[in-house]
Amino acid sequence: MEDLEGFLFRSTILMLVRRLIWNAAWYEERYPGDRIAVIETFERDYLLGNFGFNRRERRELSKLVFDSLDASRRKIPKGVEQKLLNSAKENQQRCQLCGRNIDYSIDRNDELSYSLDHIWPQSLGGESEEWNLQVTHKRCNSKRQDIADVSDAHYEHFHVKHNWSSDERDSFWKELNWQFRIAAAMKADFTCEICKNPEQIDESDGELYFSLMNRDENFNIFNIQVTCYEHLRLPRP
Ligand SMILES: [Zn+2]
Ligand SMILES: [Zn+2]
Repeated sequence: MEDLEGFLFRSTILMLVRRLIWNAAWYEERYPGDRIAVIETFERDYLLGNFGFNRRERRELSKLVFDSLDASRRKIPKGVEQKLLNSAKENQQRCQLCGRNIDYSIDRNDELSYSLDHIWPQSLGGESEEWNLQVTHKRCNSKRQDIADVSDAHYEHFHVKHNWSSDERDSFWKELNWQFRIAAAMKADFTCEICKNPEQIDESDGELYFSLMNRDENFNIFNIQVTCYEHLRLPRP
């Protein structure tokens, strides 16, 4: 696990990338149809006006940002989709987010059916190409939303408001638990943090378990340990 400094650095970069792409989309909507004018305005008003980037930096950044914006709109080519799904079915591939089995025979509308997930999120410019796609449950794909990696799931989200009704709190925790689980599993590279043994996980149908390392500390991403069933509830050191 990276240190706090690295985590915050990555987290800030990801926030900036998102802001740049959202703003580029906003300029595009405002000046429809004229890409050159959009890019010029974005560079002048946004990149120069707000950040003071120099000319070369503005050119390079806006190229990257608009390329990402285009990539975020590209659909997965049918051929690529078929190829990946066929091989996933043939190999009975597990969900690459939660690690559990996928039943390839159930109705495609079912949330436990399969889908293709962008490893680097599509909304951040992730390509719809074979190397950037993985098979996951539909459910896990949608619960992941567009989290890029663990530093993108801001741990402060997981313990904010206290004075909610119990209904609000229930649905809040249900949703966040999912994102939290995916983020924590990402942190652990989808293996048990104790034995690092993917075999071990296979025995329990790929399920990963989550526990607090220090029980006196908050429920935050640095205090969560991801393990296989066998290594769950370790005695405290
Ligand atoms: Zn899954
Ligand atoms: Zn283990």
